[in-house]
Amino acid sequence: MKVATTAAHIGLQRESRTGAVTVPIYQTATFRHPGLGQSTGYDYSRSGNPTRQALEEGLAQLEGGCRGFAYASGMAAITSLMFLFSQGDHLIVTEDLYGGSYRLFEKTFLQFGLTFSYVDTSDVAAVEAAIRPNTKALFVESLTNPLLKVADIAALSALCKKHSLLHIVDNTFLTPYLLRSFDLGADITVYSGSKYLAGHNDTVCGLVAVKDPALAEKVYFHQNGIGAVLGPQDSFLTIRGMKTLTLRMERQQENAQAVAEWLFTHPRVGKVYYPGLPDHPGHRILKERGNGFGAMIAFEVTEPQLVDRLLMNTRVISFAESLGGVESLITFPQVQTHADIEPETLDRLGINHLLLRLSVGIEDKDDLIADLAQAFEEGEPA
Ligand SMILES: *Cc1c(COP(=O)(O)O)cnc(C)c1O
Repeated sequence: MKVATTAAHIGLQRESRTGAVTVPIYQTATFRHPGLGQSTGYDYSRSGNPTRQALEEGLAQLEGGCRGFAYASGMAAITSLMFLFSQGDHLIVTEDLYGGSYRLFEKTFLQFGLTFSYVDTSDVAAVEAAIRPNTKALFVESLTNPLLKVADIAALSALCKKHSLLHIVDNTFLTPYLLRSFDLGADITVYSGSKYLAGHNDTVCGLVAVKDPALAEKVYFHQNGIGAVLGPQDSFLTIRGMKTLTLRMERQQENAQAVAEWLFTHPRVGKVYYPGLPDHPGHRILKERGNGFGAMIAFEVTEPQLVDRLLMNTRVISFAESLGGVESLITFPQVQTHADIEPETLDRLGINHLLLRLSVGIEDKDDLIADLAQAFEEGEPA
């Protein structure tokens, strides 16, 4: 089945008693046992809940994995995965990483004896050079935030196989619709479901899919042990959102392409980072391995005062953190999303005082472009 069909059918009920098409919200903490030593398959909602399970199975199917897991947030999902490792283990991580993941690794897991090297994961040779005897995993963002560098998941997976590393892909920006990480060789995918998967800026959630059953058992052990699970209401909302993932993505990336091309020609815009532009360094890989270029754009304005002007004067596009929902959002990564990364690192990466990030939504692209155009002009002499 194609992704669009699988997505639309997540949670589709086949039960004959009521004929309900959607999965009910099983708002229950516990489940009655039919008899001593017997179970309906459910006993307590941290360990398993039918609404959450429908979401987890849906993700596993979308991804082509054996099992899915839903968590209270993307950070809860990534935290749970870190418990696959032990004191002394080393992980190689994408350098222009989501700020929250960086903070988690450096401020939380360092104190438990894990160490991390931050590498440009769009450069396979640089990743190989960072491997140490105690390296256990590669944690890659398939499309990075905010600079939209593209990782060659197939080449990195081959490298991981060669060195027996676990290959974890944070595929939040691309989703299983645009990049099939398991087909390319990855072992685990992790998502902030709060972004494109739930897709409506109304739910915070995290998702993990695992390819191999033995590894899935370990991930389940920690999901249940740590207990940062997604509640039934939010599981329902995430399923509801995921049903339209492919439609939203198609529209959002069509809009993003138009906005990126418009920005590219604007006299007050410098660099434009969008993998759908042919001169973007990741264009070729995504074209070859993916199913589109996503809907995130980063761009530099030519003068610092334009940052404030755009943030304050866009009316269709909201100044807000987060991304991936139906509404377009604009942020200033240096201050908003990446404040936990050292200033020198930000500078080196190009996350500077001129860089803005756009999450392009499903609005009409003409309205988005007109909104940016008027915001650039605001306060200018006519
Ligand atoms: C938002 C985000 C996260 C964290 O997810 P939350 O749902 O906000 O906890 C992790 N990785 C990436 C790439 C993100 O964009």
